[in-house]
Amino acid sequence: MLNNEILNMPKIDLHCHLDGSMTLQSIREILGRDIQPEDVQVSENCQSLAEYLQKFDLPLECIQTTEGLKKAAKDFLIDLQKDNIKYVEARFAPQCSRHQGVNCKKVMEAVLDGLEEAKSQCGIEYQVIACMMSHHDEETNLQMLKECREFLGEGLCAVDLAGDEAGFPRKNFYPLFAEAKKMDYPFTIHAGECGDVNNVIMAAEWGAKRIGHGIAMMEHPEVQKLYRKNHIGVEMCPLSNYQTKALQPGVTYPIREFAKAGVLVTINTDNRLVSNTSIAKEMNFLHEKFGITEEELKQYQLNAVEVAFCDDAVKHELWKMMK
Ligand SMILES: [Zn+2]
Repeated sequence: MLNNEILNMPKIDLHCHLDGSMTLQSIREILGRDIQPEDVQVSENCQSLAEYLQKFDLPLECIQTTEGLKKAAKDFLIDLQKDNIKYVEARFAPQCSRHQGVNCKKVMEAVLDGLEEAKSQCGIEYQVIACMMSHHDEETNLQMLKECREFLGEGLCAVDLAGDEAGFPRKNFYPLFAEAKKMDYPFTIHAGECGDVNNVIMAAEWGAKRIGHGIAMMEHPEVQKLYRKNHIGVEMCPLSNYQTKALQPGVTYPIREFAKAGVLVTINTDNRLVSNTSIAKEMNFLHEKFGITEEELKQYQLNAVEVAFCDDAVKHELWKMMK
């Protein structure tokens, strides 16, 4: 077990899905009924990604109104105090909350309102990442990019592509990322989680500043070299990767392999509620299971400052806190 000093250090979470990281209390209050932890949390022996994804049904139900979105976002940020988070990039797919009368603009406004209210109470810095979804058609994703553009630099920091990686060839999304680039969006992409290393290479070629997971880069030193050269951050989510079977139990987590190759790796939660995790838990897991040292864990947190999408003033404050 890591000592409390490191478990309680000021921390950063760059890969955190809002819907999968709501608090249980928040879900109960928004839906107005009793929800059991097992309804929204995977068990120790989660068998598949499909089982994992089922746990998002109730959280998604919560964020179908602007009130639900605002409350979910507010409760989420306040709850991060427990993990001593100082800066978070929360991501979600605005078009999954979009319906008649509520466009992505209203969805984004509600989430930013909730986060800003929470920040005034708890002081945690935040930015939002808007996710395109791989199962949405090009028009739907493009519409989201357009409707959210006015928030870039005003709480929104980047876009992402999330959702089923294996079932939807990443190469089909090139036109959307070309559009995103024209609109000046920085972007991260879920790549190499359940898909192969070509997705990881493609993300680099398209100009991703970071990628989510990147597991498929394992045993590909030439790709790791490319990531090092281009300073591309890798948002790793250890517990989630074993739960979804992106990695089989018994396989060594590749974070040290990547770090040794000079890749800017970071430790993240993915889904705090669904995975029943926190940055402290992720750090302790890596330490207990794979002998990742305190120094390494601290370095990964410093990497997170380096590859964060926030402005330099916020980065400067984070450096001061963490050094
Ligand atoms: Zn993710």
